[in-house]
Amino acid sequence: MGRILVIGAGGQLGTVLTNRLKEIYGEHQVIASDLRPIKAFTGLFELIDATDSGRIEEVVKQYEVEEVYHLAAILSANGEKNPLGTWEINMKTLFNVLEVSRLNGVKKVFYPSSIAVFGSEVEQQNTPQASFLNPSTVYGISKAAGENWAQYYFQKYGLDVRSLRYPGVIGYQSLPGGGTTDYAVDIYHKAVEEVSFSCFLEKDTTLPMIYMDDAIRATVELMQAPIESIKTRTSYNLAGMSFSPEEIAAAIKKIYPNFRITYEPDFRQQIAASWPQSIDDSRARDDWGWRPEYDLNTMTEDMIKNLKAKYSTSN
Ligand code: NAD
Repeated sequence: MGRILVIGAGGQLGTVLTNRLKEIYGEHQVIASDLRPIKAFTGLFELIDATDSGRIEEVVKQYEVEEVYHLAAILSANGEKNPLGTWEINMKTLFNVLEVSRLNGVKKVFYPSSIAVFGSEVEQQNTPQASFLNPSTVYGISKAAGENWAQYYFQKYGLDVRSLRYPGVIGYQSLPGGGTTDYAVDIYHKAVEEVSFSCFLEKDTTLPMIYMDDAIRATVELMQAPIESIKTRTSYNLAGMSFSPEEIAAAIKKIYPNFRITYEPDFRQQIAASWPQSIDDSRARDDWGWRPEYDLNTMTEDMIKNLKAKYSTSN
């Protein structure tokens, strides 16, 4: 198999995904890249600003890259601070990846979408795959457009672009990068540090979430699936679990009975309120066998065990 390039590898998902790809395909098969140097990576690393298509092309040619994971993006909450700049970055980086890939022999591209593509028009419970998309954020608008471009490049040029609509991703390995579900990572850090947590969402705001291990496994399984199994060419709905801040706090209290949470909703509450509460991922289950493994309690146990180990070695 040819080499794999991960763009935006230094972020919350990229850090974990890059290491997983190295475990599967070998240290020298995977090139990590980001805007800035990333200390965590030991193997091949290249600085790439994905708004610069020439630079992507240089690296793709140099390493004869055959698979690209395009993770670079400005996320939902950060994106609202500069809507036009977010549109520019999210779309330009995607077009650059698609064009460089199609013109330079890249065989497969992974493009992450998000539950942010859904808006007020959808059924909030078990949101179907084929829903009307009226996203409320510029991030969601860019992902909805991006999904359609992914399908367009597959249909028009035969570029094998595959995509998942990730729910909020929760992991101990890395910190989130400015999304609306970031609280669900931060809360575990506060629990393990034994300090109280101020939540930026209301206590009953239920959102779809997924544990990092499941999100990474879904990505790998989607990319390894035979081409004829991939029948959705925009982006697959993906579900792990759904919970509210009050419910995650209750799961944490089973381990830390004195854990305290307060609620101080900010602008992110409005974004969260426009998103589904749970997702119907039956197409992913039927087409390529997707099954999540973690629920709120098993995730909470694993998060706390790993964060405790992390904090005790860093002290
Ligand atoms: P993140 O913000 O943690 O990481 C993004 C990385 O991209 C950062 O390291 C950043 O330096 C890099 N980057 C930004 N602009 C770049 C550019 N112009 N060129 C090169 N690199 C650039 O994001 P994440 O949480 O790891 O998300 C990865 C992808 O998954 C994103 O496309 C995001 O939209 C999607 N996603 C994430 C979640 C989640 O909960 N984390 C949920 C849904 C979708």
